[in-house]
Amino acid sequence: MKIKTRFAPSPTGDLHIGSIRTALYSWLFARHHNGEFVLRIEDTDLQRSQKISIDSILQGLEWLGLNWDEGPYFQTKRLDRYKEVINILLEKKNAYKCFCSSQELEEIRTNQIQKGLKPRYPGTCRNLKINHLHNKDYVIRFKNPTTGKVIFNDKIRGDIIFDNSELDDLIIQRSNGIPTYNFCVVIDDLDMKITHVIRGEDHINNTPRQINILKSLGAQIPIYAHLSMILDEEGNKISKRKNALNIIEYYKKGFLPEALLNYIVRLGWSHGDKEIFSLLEMKKLFNLNFISKSSSIVNIKKLLWINKYYINNLSVQHISSLLKDYMEREKIDIHNGPSLELLVKLLRSRCHTLKEMTEFSRYFYEEFDFSDQKLVEKYLTCNNCQILEKIYNKLEKILVWNHLVISEVINNLSKKNQINTKEINMILRIVITGNIYSPSISSVIDLVGQKKTLLRIKKAINYINTLYI
Ligand code: GLU
Repeated sequence: MKIKTRFAPSPTGDLHIGSIRTALYSWLFARHHNGEFVLRIEDTDLQRSQKISIDSILQGLEWLGLNWDEGPYFQTKRLDRYKEVINILLEKKNAYKCFCSSQELEEIRTNQIQKGLKPRYPGTCRNLKINHLHNKDYVIRFKNPTTGKVIFNDKIRGDIIFDNSELDDLIIQRSNGIPTYNFCVVIDDLDMKITHVIRGEDHINNTPRQINILKSLGAQIPIYAHLSMILDEEGNKISKRKNALNIIEYYKKGFLPEALLNYIVRLGWSHGDKEIFSLLEMKKLFNLNFISKSSSIVNIKKLLWINKYYINNLSVQHISSLLKDYMEREKIDIHNGPSLELLVKLLRSRCHTLKEMTEFSRYFYEEFDFSDQKLVEKYLTCNNCQILEKIYNKLEKILVWNHLVISEVINNLSKKNQINTKEINMILRIVITGNIYSPSISSVIDLVGQKKTLLRIKKAINYINTLYI
């Protein structure tokens, strides 16, 4: 049997970590079994579906490399097919037209609630002989069996049992002629030959209804796996309408797709104590047996840790090619300084995200003014001006510019003038980077280059002179 899974988002909001986990698990399961992965956009809720959400779904999946073998299918483009099956169900008397008005239904509902009963459709039109009522709108309902049970073996939760007496006759076509979610899903899963339905636990209650429709069509029932919730750091359910970050925001914040996928795969699945999984390992090891039944909690610190790991362990070329985009977004002209490869080598051990790396790298490409008054008062002093002049004279004479020679110059100056190297390094850090933090200053100076270094020292000397003369 060819394994076939699907990701079936409704385009009513952005993709967030929870939806990506559903997509990732479905994708991995298909890839692990050499099967196929289908993308289906469930857009029959015309009021809430948005083009912008469709774009965001496609963009997010593409960024993460979760490629699909079929689709994207759009349910709104399959309306004829749904109609065809609804007609079959009507003919077989497995479905019927319901002429109850919303007002009538509301009255029944209120009544049931008042009596302490679970609100459900009482089957008023279930056995009507008429096919038409003048001037009356109708919906189409599925004739759910009234007795017996629906049992399915959820791959994560084991046997789940529903009594048919608990399920009422579900609307499968609205009065505007558009079929409903629960119906379209069934026909799509059937037509697309989906073998495994992996989705959020919020769909557990829909499953017996969907199984009953499948049964009425004599169809094979797929295997279901319902994933538990993901909670935010405060313990609230992640929802696209409230606290969820669009997956593309993670890109903007400088996370690598490799890191994000690695982080997400561990939100509910494990393979012993292993934390780091390459994509290849994920495909090889992923299965439905080790998915946790309890909810998972987002942990940004862990995500940052994993991202830093990937920044430091993927090839310098790969990181540089990703970094290029961020530099462009921040309008840093990379032709104006060192190659990105050299930059990555120098900065990556200090960075958790590519955004952070971009922020740290501006001074390699751009000049800056001394704006921090406290730093100016502390470091740009008359005494330091003399040291800067000495450094300038030494650095000017260097013929082969590299960090070893630069660090030797600094050490010699420190010995000769009896100034701590740390102090010289700090003055240089302020003058060359504008900052009190940086990687080893001789390596920074090496990358900034001789010309720019001398220029910045000269600028600092002139600046001090304007302050004190
Ligand atoms: N369209 C549904 C949703 O976005 C998913 C349906 C399914 O996976 O069966 O929640």
